[in-house]
Amino acid sequence: IFGFGHLRDWVTRQFAEDRRISITDDSFDCFWRPIASKPDAWFDVVERYSNDSNKTLHRTTKTSRCLNLGSYNYLGFAAADEYCTPRVIESLKKYSASTCSVRVDGGNTKLHVELEELVARFVGKPAAILFGMGYVTNSAIIPALIGKGGLIISDSLNHNSIVSGARASGATIRVFEHNNPAHLEKLLREQISGGQPRTHRAWKKILVIVEGIYSMEGELCKLPEIISVCKKYKVYTYMDEAHSIGAVGKTGRGVCELLGVDPADVDIMMGTLSKSFGSSGGYIAASKEIIQHLKLTCPSHIYGTSMSPPAVQQVISAMKVILGEDGTDRGAKKIAQIRDNSNFFRSELQKMGFEVLGDNDSPVMPFMVYNPAKMPAFSRECLKQNVAVVPVGFPATPLLLGRIRICISASHSREDLIKGLEVISNVGDLVGIKYLPVEQEET
Ligand code: PMP
Repeated sequence: IFGFGHLRDWVTRQFAEDRRISITDDSFDCFWRPIASKPDAWFDVVERYSNDSNKTLHRTTKTSRCLNLGSYNYLGFAAADEYCTPRVIESLKKYSASTCSVRVDGGNTKLHVELEELVARFVGKPAAILFGMGYVTNSAIIPALIGKGGLIISDSLNHNSIVSGARASGATIRVFEHNNPAHLEKLLREQISGGQPRTHRAWKKILVIVEGIYSMEGELCKLPEIISVCKKYKVYTYMDEAHSIGAVGKTGRGVCELLGVDPADVDIMMGTLSKSFGSSGGYIAASKEIIQHLKLTCPSHIYGTSMSPPAVQQVISAMKVILGEDGTDRGAKKIAQIRDNSNFFRSELQKMGFEVLGDNDSPVMPFMVYNPAKMPAFSRECLKQNVAVVPVGFPATPLLLGRIRICISASHSREDLIKGLEVISNVGDLVGIKYLPVEQEET
């Protein structure tokens, strides 16, 4: 709860700066009331159908079953997979749902060790360490890597977990313009050379933090350019691959594979296990020395209960399918499918006149709404037509840069995608968010 009068003035000022929004006396109510008083699917309790790869969800307060266009289930491993699920059930029987112990005190099973080796091999680094949650991986690891006297240079659109880790570290933080290697270089030059404000030697360590695919933008990191700047200034790189690992690259190995970067050039690779692998948890993959340092010093590794064994088994099985080690080509087909699905959906949205953000091949596909009041309106109208999409706005984005975010899965069929597009197009007309000219068909 804020002092509402003050917030109202501020919100109205923000509205005034945006030409797309006509200001009315009740603009404040338009923004908050729909969100607060009529929760939609994303604030509601939802049920999943375990046998349809998380493709649909069901609101417990309504009877509708919706096409799910908002899940991070990029490869469709999230439910009832023919290879993963029986193995997960076996691991549940053997190890139970929790180790009820920390890694260093009886919570270290063979599964945990196997997954750490597998993750390292999968991402192309010498070693890896697991954590129970992706969010905690960033927020707890960054302070274990760098502290007071260090300098973090962070992309302006990095995820909240990175921001909280950076703040907790006590290091000095500078923010570079989103995905702008030239601005990164400018900041590094200021910090390193010329002695202003400090010489390179004055910083104990410098860490540049980026994401593989930006979660609110759907945009690929300009990794080759960023790496060449980091190499030039001899600083460490940290990349969060939450939305790219498993989902992009010829064999699902993420943005390094997609953009032709040697994983050896990224010092610290972070990823979540809650998206492409259909589980939960996070990892850091790096040199043996860095991983050993984290195992010995990171409090969340030493004092936090280890990852749930069935969750570990889920990732082991999903990675084996992707690697083709289940003896089939299902993994390769899933990766080809998510690319086809993503590129098809993106180009259709563009043809319809939506202002779509992000790059080809990215399964994260936001399109702009701008007006905060239109976001819940859009998602609610879609729900009425049994399509669930995620509205993302303030504070995850600037107040007037609200958007709808679609996440595409390999488990969506062409019919699913066409149905989703029809509904989104109709609702886009209804709510008035097709900002770009519609491409004319050539006759
Ligand atoms: N990093 C990024 C870029 C994310 O988008 C997210 C969550 N969506 C996380 C980290 C946190 O991961 P998890 O949800 O698995 O805790």
